[in-house]
Amino acid sequence: MSIYRDWGLEPIINVSGSVTRLGGAPMPKAVLDAFCAAAQDAVPLDELQGAASRVIAEATGAEAGIVTSGAAAGLMLGTAAILTGYNLGRMEKLPHTEEFPHEFVVAREHRNGYDHAVRAAGARFVEVGFQEIVAGAGVRRAEAWEYEAAFGPKTAGVLHVYDVNAAPPLAELVKVAHARGLPVLVDAAGELPPRSNLKAILATGADLVAFSGGKAIRGPQATGILCGRRDFIGSALLQMLDMDDHFELWEPPATLIDKSKLAGIPRHGIGRALKVSKEQIAALLTALKLFTSGAYDRELADMGRWLQQIANALAKAPARCNLMPSDGQSYPILEITLTGKKSAFDVCRSLRRGKPSVQVGHLKLGPGTLVINPLHLNDERTAALIRRLQDELSA
Ligand SMILES: *Cc1c(COP(=O)(O)O)cnc(C)c1O
Repeated sequence: MSIYRDWGLEPIINVSGSVTRLGGAPMPKAVLDAFCAAAQDAVPLDELQGAASRVIAEATGAEAGIVTSGAAAGLMLGTAAILTGYNLGRMEKLPHTEEFPHEFVVAREHRNGYDHAVRAAGARFVEVGFQEIVAGAGVRRAEAWEYEAAFGPKTAGVLHVYDVNAAPPLAELVKVAHARGLPVLVDAAGELPPRSNLKAILATGADLVAFSGGKAIRGPQATGILCGRRDFIGSALLQMLDMDDHFELWEPPATLIDKSKLAGIPRHGIGRALKVSKEQIAALLTALKLFTSGAYDRELADMGRWLQQIANALAKAPARCNLMPSDGQSYPILEITLTGKKSAFDVCRSLRRGKPSVQVGHLKLGPGTLVINPLHLNDERTAALIRRLQDELSA
């Protein structure tokens, strides 16, 4: 019996993965237990973030790290840290940044909806480069010299949205930025797995990296990780923590915040609206341990079996199934390409409206393909999904 029925909602079958719109990833029992256990006692949040920093540093190789309320929150806090450093006056002014360097240079092809979080902190984008291959108008993409040419007295930093095939590669961009003393903030929200990315992205020399906690790590949906240079992480934490304390009594964790560099306690910062609870922090750290130890890999065989069952059941349906196996860390994926009269949009809509409601991955609806991500599947849901797919495809 689902708790959502208490409020008149029917649970859906989510086969589009850990998408935020549908509530993210399922949390393992150990993660939920950590959430409940954390609620039993009180601890100072700054000290808990200090402990989180040690765990995150070990997992990522960063100098320091904090738990944020999502990767987007990490981008906003990371931007705030780059814009203000330890300057209390600047912290108080955010998001108004006219009086100090506030431009972030970004490749046009990296612009996306999540960069609203960077702009919301007070940064203004200066766009460089063209994606001439996508435009069908050439052979080149953004190049390192274009960033360099855009740097000026108002530049505060660089935003990079991580992709292994990014152009220019992150390591090259870091070199160009650091030559001018400029930090690089990286959006790596969805770049796990592979687990190696936890360390590999920072190993390029990037200054700050944001990961989602509610995607592959399977922590609470509203968690994330911001990791990187200690001075920036300290500034980010100062701008997120509740600051209702006396300077004489305040003892922030020395590993994250150098109190001797501060003229006083900042007011509640721009990140106060992005606060994280002790339960979220405990749950995320527990999930991070499971993720880094490879505990989730054991589920991949079951996931492959469920997808194979779906493909087998659709053998006579007007569709072509393509099961892409797991590489050992990422989920296997089933693509169902429709060969009948119904469009993928129509099938997708009927799947959403039926009972139980089904939401498939819609990355490839244009080309007529439903994408099935097995993250939320089990035996029972697989059977129900097969019935729904058979009904909608043959109808
Ligand atoms: C998911 C995602 C985000 C947002 O992450 P949250 O943890 O949901 O805040 C940001 N950027 C990219 C590229 C993403 O895929």
